[in-house]
Amino acid sequence: MYCPHCGKEVADDAVVCVGCGRSLQGGGTKVGQGRVGSQMTRRSPAAVLLLPFVTFGIYELYWLVRTKTEMNAQGAKIPTAWLLIVPIANWYWLWRFSVGVQHATGGKTSAATSFLLYFFLSVIGAAIIQNELNKAAA
Ligand SMILES: [Zn+2]
Repeated sequence: MYCPHCGKEVADDAVVCVGCGRSLQGGGTKVGQGRVGSQMTRRSPAAVLLLPFVTFGIYELYWLVRTKTEMNAQGAKIPTAWLLIVPIANWYWLWRFSVGVQHATGGKTSAATSFLLYFFLSVIGAAIIQNELNKAAA
């Protein structure tokens, strides 16, 4: 078959054109663009604030892991959340998470701001960060 984008002849089962690098599976998405346009899931800041209390903190971990995964899908590079259970390394992880927040909010919430919010206010800080992420997703 021939590439619909550049006309180069490619294998019939090719997924990506060897000529122009574009996807041959409709949409014409350029390879390497990743999941641009994937959005952060909007969540209720009140839920982020209150659910940890009724779930004995489990929701808080869930929130950190979910938002981490979503921010990484947007190009942030936050390491595994297992670091959260390692003393000292959990500060490092929180910093990387905060850099991800800065990335996901397009710089509106700086890494330093979200780090301090979470470090000092815990779930209250998480609720504020969620509110900022919601604004960025809007
Ligand atoms: Zn092509």
